[in-house]
Order: sequence, then structure tokens, then C-alpha cells
Amino acid sequence: MVNRAGVLALQGNYNQHKRMLDVLGIKNILVQYPRELENCDLLIIPGGESTAISKQIERNNFRHPILNFAKTNSVFGTCAGMILLSSSEKATNLKPLSIMDFKVDRNAFGRQVDSFSGNLCLEFDNTDSFNGLFIRAPKISKLGKGIKILATYKKQPVMITNGRHFATTFHPEIGDDYRIHKHIMGKINE
Ligand code: GLN
Repeated sequence: MVNRAGVLALQGNYNQHKRMLDVLGIKNILVQYPRELENCDLLIIPGGESTAISKQIERNNFRHPILNFAKTNSVFGTCAGMILLSSSEKATNLKPLSIMDFKVDRNAFGRQVDSFSGNLCLEFDNTDSFNGLFIRAPKISKLGKGIKILATYKKQPVMITNGRHFATTFHPEIGDDYRIHKHIMGKINE
């Protein structure tokens, strides 16, 4: 079980993640400075704009602290956060952290107007499907060794783990279904 979660609060949907953690009774802080990672055992990198978050990571000297943190702690990235966790190629203004061994195609479903919600199958809970919100979402283009699929949409992987770290192409922090956050929080330090 997680002791204290940090939510990277540089850009994007960090407040919605915080709200979910508050509802679940998980101790958490919004992380704006690298030293604030110190007392956390999980870092959530939210959705938003991966280029903007990447720029802020570099500008605020977060890159090495996050890479160091990830050696012994967990990171959970959603949408843009997942793009940052990936081992996708560097692009202008975007330097993925390569914390997990997978690649993505950004904006793979089109523009903002092509955003949609869909019913996902969760591997860890078959009581009901999960309504996932995809907002200019990435698509996983390559999965490395040791990556386990935790949720699918139309048979495509949309939530993955390597045991320590977690990533979703959609936004589990939006809405009132807490199952994904609850599942991940329970897996930390297991
Ligand atoms: N399309 C965004 C990006 O590439 C991600 C969108 C999101 O996080 N909802 O960064």
C-alpha cells in the first residue's frame, strides 16, 4: 500500500488526481520542487500537454530527481504522463524519461474534437467495464519485455505495468470510478 503519493503539479490534470487520492484517503502532496519527492513512494505524472510538462521538467531540474526516484519508487503516468514515462524517440520539446520499456504514437486518435469515451476491460476487476476518457490520447505502438497489460479497449492495450510503474493512455482521474487509482495504490510496496 502506498504511504504518501506525490502528484507532479507543473501542468495538466494534477488537481483531479489529488481529488481522487483525497476521496480514497491516501496521503498526498502536489509536487512542484524536486525536494518534495523525498517523502513520497509514488509519483503521479498527470495528463495535459507532454511537451509543456517535458519543458517544465527540464527547466525545473526534475529530470535526474525523477529518474533517481523511479529506481526505488513507483511512477504512474496518465496520457501525457504516460508519454513521458515511455521510451519513445526524443522530439523537439519532448524528452521522454524512458522509465518504462514501451513506445507510443502521440495524438493517435486525432485532434481534440476526436476525443471520446469507451468501455474498457480491466484485467484486475471483471465486475463491470470501466468508462475510459481518451483526450487526444496516445496509442501504444510497441511493448517491451516484462510489460503486463492491465486494461484493454477493443483488444488494444491501454493500461500497462512493469510491476513497479504504471501507465494509462486514458484519464482515470476524471469521473467517479475510483477502481484504477485504488488498484494501483494497493500495489505500491507490495
Ligand atoms: N495529446 C497530448 C500530448 O501529446 C496528451 C493529451 C492528454 O494528456 N490528454 O501531450
